[in-house]
Amino acid sequence: MSNNEEARLSVLRQLNLLDTPPSESFDRITRLASLLFDLPIAAVSLTDRDRQWFKSRVGVDHREIPRFKACCGDVTDSSAVLVINDLLASSDYHDSHLAASGIRFYAGAPLITHDGHTLGAMCVLGTEPRQVTDQERNILRDLAAMVMAQIDLQHAVGRVEPTTGLPNYLSFVEDLNDLARDFPNDQCHVLGTELVDLAQINALQRVMGPAYLDSLSQTVARKIREKLGDQAKIYHVGPCQFAHLESGNKSEIFERAVSLRQSLLEVTVNGSAPFMLRPVVGLAPVQLGRTQPDAVLRLAHTACRDARDNEKGAGFYSESSDNRYQRRFSLISDFQQALQSDDQLHLAYQPRVDMASARCVSAEALIRWQHPEVGNVSPAEFIPLVENTSMARALTDWVMRNAIRQAASWHRRGLELRISINIAAANLEEQDFSERLLGYLRREALPLRAIELELTESGLISNGRAARQQLEKLMALGVRIAIDDFGTGYSSLAYLQTIPAHVVKIDRSFISGLDHHERCQTLVRSMIAMAHELGYSVVGEGVETGEGKEILHSLGCDEIQGYLIARPMTSADFDSWFMAHINTAAASQSRRS
Ligand code: C2E
Ligand code: MG
Ligand code: MG
Repeated sequence: MSNNEEARLSVLRQLNLLDTPPSESFDRITRLASLLFDLPIAAVSLTDRDRQWFKSRVGVDHREIPRFKACCGDVTDSSAVLVINDLLASSDYHDSHLAASGIRFYAGAPLITHDGHTLGAMCVLGTEPRQVTDQERNILRDLAAMVMAQIDLQHAVGRVEPTTGLPNYLSFVEDLNDLARDFPNDQCHVLGTELVDLAQINALQRVMGPAYLDSLSQTVARKIREKLGDQAKIYHVGPCQFAHLESGNKSEIFERAVSLRQSLLEVTVNGSAPFMLRPVVGLAPVQLGRTQPDAVLRLAHTACRDARDNEKGAGFYSESSDNRYQRRFSLISDFQQALQSDDQLHLAYQPRVDMASARCVSAEALIRWQHPEVGNVSPAEFIPLVENTSMARALTDWVMRNAIRQAASWHRRGLELRISINIAAANLEEQDFSERLLGYLRREALPLRAIELELTESGLISNGRAARQQLEKLMALGVRIAIDDFGTGYSSLAYLQTIPAHVVKIDRSFISGLDHHERCQTLVRSMIAMAHELGYSVVGEGVETGEGKEILHSLGCDEIQGYLIARPMTSADFDSWFMAHINTAAASQSRRS
């Protein structure tokens, strides 16, 4: 079979017409043909590899006949109108399938696509020999053109983005498949252009209305066309997302991407309020035939996301960053499940020791996640992810409930311990936060003084008025507040004065340098002095060495927490540790006195 025939068959397949149910839009044309020619049979007949398949038919029951010696097949081969006045008198067709079924007359006009492939024939058939006039030949050609217009229309629907008239995601995938067939193993680049990030799209839609997004897409589509020229095929692949392919030198492609992005920075929409567009262009290599077409846009999107963080607003796909992103994404999705399970999450407790008395006065509750497939996931990895989602509420709720239940059980046994609970800044925005906290305490009959809430310095600073009010309300009720990771949030000392809190926990990064670095000592000394002056009690976090402990002691630090004392432990291990510690603390106390 010729290459041409293979290409023709591939076009036919892509139109997705073969073996589809009848449709009124085609049947209307077939009925008209039968009426105009006053013949009992008319059909839209598509030429498959070895059969004629009828997309539409009147006067015949079967949906297909063999291609061998079928008149329509010859119309396809010749791409010309074919008229057989009497099949029985024709040397080619007297012994054909059609003739055997009683057909005597045939006239068919080719169904030709824009790029010159003939799909089949629009045909009329009769059981008596017949002549055709020139006018009838023209009518038949017109009917064939109507069928083709219908095919074009059906094909366009679902493959063109109505707002911009550009081919859409499906077209992109189809075109990549074609390219892979025609140029297997060739390499090119996909360039994804995104005007705003997805979160911003939702905000834009709410604030400016959907019409704004449509105008924005139209304006940008024109701008991209202007920039890339008429030859480029530009696809509108998602809301405010475009893509096109380029081949050639990688660094030149990158330069063009930067320049395209630059030109989009100037876009404004119909003089409406200027909205900060943050267009980016992400580039990803495509190995035709090897890179899965539907993966190509995902790679481009990943590159776009990374490009948001780089100065040029354009960048190549990076596999390692993609892997990190994929892991982050799956952790976020899996956390919901973890919250509902009863064996994936638990709390570890790390003691905090008073420097003066060497007694363990409190413990910090630290969440642990044993993921069923990934294993242990550090809270330093998943907490920042979860805190940015709506699960922040459920997370803290889970921790509060479990920490309070544990604290109550220790209290009932006479352990005078305060439990520190880490909360996210976002929790303070929850209207009912204090009520829920008080509710859990009441349920376990635990006094307020038995808990403390830790909030990071940066979290406290970035908070709005509602959060501040919530914090003040909690403090008025008697809840102790600690500023966690102090020193990492770049807050001015003056600002610190305004934060309502009782305790300052100096971040581990300062403490770990104490043994070796003069500068660290100076910093920690002034932090402690200042905190004391403002009325805060001071905790040194992450104390790992005896020397560090001594220095903190000499600087007047009130409490310490760190591996030197103990690592975070399960509640059972904490229990045993606490009992043993009481005894050693008491023994050393009596030695000292
Ligand atoms: P954080 O609140 O500052 O907790 C102290 C972290 O330092 C803990 O890490 C603890 O295991 C670690 N640490 C304590 N002593 C030492 C030491 O001597 N050396 C070293 N190298 N590390 C020490 P972890 O448990 O991995 O938690 C990391 C962060 O995750 C926490 O920092 C906190 O911000 C967050 N987090 C943990 N549990 C929760 C939770 O239940 N809720 C929320 N919102 N955040 C939590
Ligand atoms: Mg903490
Ligand atoms: Mg900390």
